[in-house]
Amino acid sequence: MTERPVYLDNMASTPVDPRVVEAMAPFWSTAFGNPHSVEHAFGWQADEAVERAAASVAALIGADADEIIFTAGATEANNLAILGLAHRAPAGRRRMLVSAVEHKSVLAAARAAAGRYGTIVEVIPVDAEGRIDLDRLAGMISEDVICVVAMAVNNEIGTVQDIPAVAAICATADVHLVCDAVQAPLGVDLDVDRCKIPLLVLSAHKIYGPKGIGALYVRRDVQNMIEPQVYGGGQQRGLRAGTLPTPLCVGFGTAAELLGTEEAIGERAMIASLRDHFEDGLRRLGHPVVINGGGASRHPGNSNVRFRGRDGRDLIAALQPRFAVSSGSACSSGIVEPSHVLRAIGLTGEEANSSVRFSFGRFTTEADVAAAMEALSDAIFSDEAA
Ligand code: PMP
Repeated sequence: MTERPVYLDNMASTPVDPRVVEAMAPFWSTAFGNPHSVEHAFGWQADEAVERAAASVAALIGADADEIIFTAGATEANNLAILGLAHRAPAGRRRMLVSAVEHKSVLAAARAAAGRYGTIVEVIPVDAEGRIDLDRLAGMISEDVICVVAMAVNNEIGTVQDIPAVAAICATADVHLVCDAVQAPLGVDLDVDRCKIPLLVLSAHKIYGPKGIGALYVRRDVQNMIEPQVYGGGQQRGLRAGTLPTPLCVGFGTAAELLGTEEAIGERAMIASLRDHFEDGLRRLGHPVVINGGGASRHPGNSNVRFRGRDGRDLIAALQPRFAVSSGSACSSGIVEPSHVLRAIGLTGEEANSSVRFSFGRFTTEADVAAAMEALSDAIFSDEAA
């Protein structure tokens, strides 16, 4: 067997689809104009490309192009939504409800809002599968809440939230819902109108597009309720100043368009079947494993596995340098801590640290899965024999 690298970390980032690279190419070379230059053809050409990209990203979620604000990624989009809403919160609305399993860019932005604006941040608990406790949310919601922040699909354990149900609870007190949908497009369909989502976050590099670009969808009637976080030349309706990176916008738009094709829709089932095959194989290895979170409603490409009695990081180290996977712990400022998501679903620190996330995508093959299985078997049993 050749020792080619095997990439099973698609929830961290996806490879850029070659068709996306091809679509971006002219915008690095001949079509380099500033999309905000209104006086000449170079500018018009770039502007047209950016507008088309915004329309394609919007179409992915059932929105209109003028409701898309491009950002440098989902981290910035989450910051813009949370800090922007907190800054302009009407008198009488000071609380912000954030689910326990949100990405760090949400948790850190909410903490910053508390420091800057005195926002009171409260955590919405989740069940053992990572699903928001809707009864608890209904009990917490009231007319003093600025917004609820709830992700559509969890990036660690793949849990798909019932976003329409969360939105319905928000509506009872006229509260904005900020939905981090970064991991959604490859796994579930989300339509902002049907699901009644006023703010939604996307990132290109999780959908086979380039890094360095994401988007905040803001429904038209909410746009004046957000304080910009980047000031400048008034681009993007004043909500996020700065010259747009045309090639990245085009890449994002193309990646979004590709997701609308028949082929991409069929791909979900293919990916889920590879994942299921992987999990069946793992169970047959003979070492006790538990699948963390997700349950019946899980992203097709996610498999977060707890290897009983093992340290996840040791297993990952044994798979190097060939296999790309992620651990159930996070390293912040040099200190390794168990994942807050795994802790929130009730795992102990030790259980969280014995977990490894495998994530499958468009370019994963059966041979990749077989190779990973063999390497895992070696890693587990050579260690047990030692
Ligand atoms: N939210 C979620 C759910 C994510 O998975 C990520 C990326 N890990 C982010 C936000 C941040 O995205 P970006 O890399 O585009 O800043």
